[in-house]
Amino acid sequence: MIDTIIVNGTVITATGQSQESIGIKDGLIDDLYEPGSEPDAAETIDAKGLAILPGVVDMHCHHRQGSETGGYEYKETIESATIQCAAGGVTTSVAMPNVTPPPNSLKLYEDLLKVYEKSAVVDYNVNPAGTVTSEIPGLSKTGLAAFKIFMVVDTGRDYPHMPGIGIHDHGKLMEAMEACAAVDVPLMVHPHDQALMAHIEQQFWDRGERDALAYAKAYSAHDGVIWDSAISTLLRIQKATGVHLHLLHIQTAGSVELLRQAKAEGQRVTAEINPWALFLGNDWSAIERLGSYALSYYVPEKNTPVLWEAFNDGTIDIMASDHAPHTREEKEVGWTDGWKAHTGTPSTQHYMSFLLDAAAQGKTTLERIVEATSTAPADIFGMQGKGHIEPGYHADLVLCDLEAESEIRDEDTLGLIGWSPYAGCSVKGIPVRTILRGKTVFADGKVTAKPGNGQYVTARHPAA
Ligand SMILES: [Zn+2]
Repeated sequence: MIDTIIVNGTVITATGQSQESIGIKDGLIDDLYEPGSEPDAAETIDAKGLAILPGVVDMHCHHRQGSETGGYEYKETIESATIQCAAGGVTTSVAMPNVTPPPNSLKLYEDLLKVYEKSAVVDYNVNPAGTVTSEIPGLSKTGLAAFKIFMVVDTGRDYPHMPGIGIHDHGKLMEAMEACAAVDVPLMVHPHDQALMAHIEQQFWDRGERDALAYAKAYSAHDGVIWDSAISTLLRIQKATGVHLHLLHIQTAGSVELLRQAKAEGQRVTAEINPWALFLGNDWSAIERLGSYALSYYVPEKNTPVLWEAFNDGTIDIMASDHAPHTREEKEVGWTDGWKAHTGTPSTQHYMSFLLDAAAQGKTTLERIVEATSTAPADIFGMQGKGHIEPGYHADLVLCDLEAESEIRDEDTLGLIGWSPYAGCSVKGIPVRTILRGKTVFADGKVTAKPGNGQYVTARHPAA
């Protein structure tokens, strides 16, 4: 006798599709069965007409909360972020360290995990900032997924890239990479060439160009030179240190070229793309219409086919949400000063739908979606129990209706800010039920799990 049997669905994994029933016992996948040969179960879930994917493992989410009262909880809290995760099919959400106080020491990291323990609705991990080298050995023993460093410094605003989380001095970067290599924990880097950006943005400002459209153009100027230059530097220091480098925010054709070459030479590098690079920031008309509300970053359209190819062939290993909520007030200012507007866009509730919609259009496959959003992130970062529909793994599943069409609306977003840059977009394919460790956390349009339901996912690295 097992706890739950899920029948009549199509199981999608990174390697194929099958008509099998999934048995669940004690929160784990017990086994997969040919239809008709299932054991007795206390609960039967009929997944007729639905696709069953492993729960999404989102390696890059901004939960905004750094303590009980860190200061950015008006944008989002651990609870509100993970509620959106549950509704979006995300069963593991990994937080970024640009919160107050930024977790860059063992003490701050452990304090923050206590807040997660009572607040998270789905499973989680937290990436501390790898900016204090002396703290890296202690932090490396916690089970963290990776360290994170931002190379970007805010000019004209004080968030989201505040002091304590950034390094753009190359010597200091090398020191951090050596420290991460010594404990064999991956290092995620937001690539950015601050010196080039300072020059480029000054040229825009000197011409009196300061609005969101100027901001968009400055960050993408000269075919994305600030991105490519930083990635080139990072890859060269990676070669010197041997660290597992994970590049964030891949968005230029030049970066894809550099990444391909580094991988061909056997360098220890993996990379991430974000939904905004394929579904939002690559549409100039959306940026004209929405201004800062559409920015994360502007990704000129000519990069789109290159990025899809790199996503599909695995050059870009994973997609993570880079869910980054800000209030309307913090975006509205962008109409006059794009540098003052907080950068980033919310997406964790909806990015699975955009991928399913892309599969319906033939731009990618369901298998590649599973690999890029769940299996590969879990394997790359050693997320124990996650990312596979196989016996012994956590029963984290997302049931999707691939035929359902829906329009994204501001009023349906479950975050605190009440808006989505994707409002008005129609998608084909939506998550309809999310199961975490065998228990349904989202169904019939409602998140049923409570804060405290989420557990820390331990990551295991080769030598940590
Ligand atoms: Zn981010």
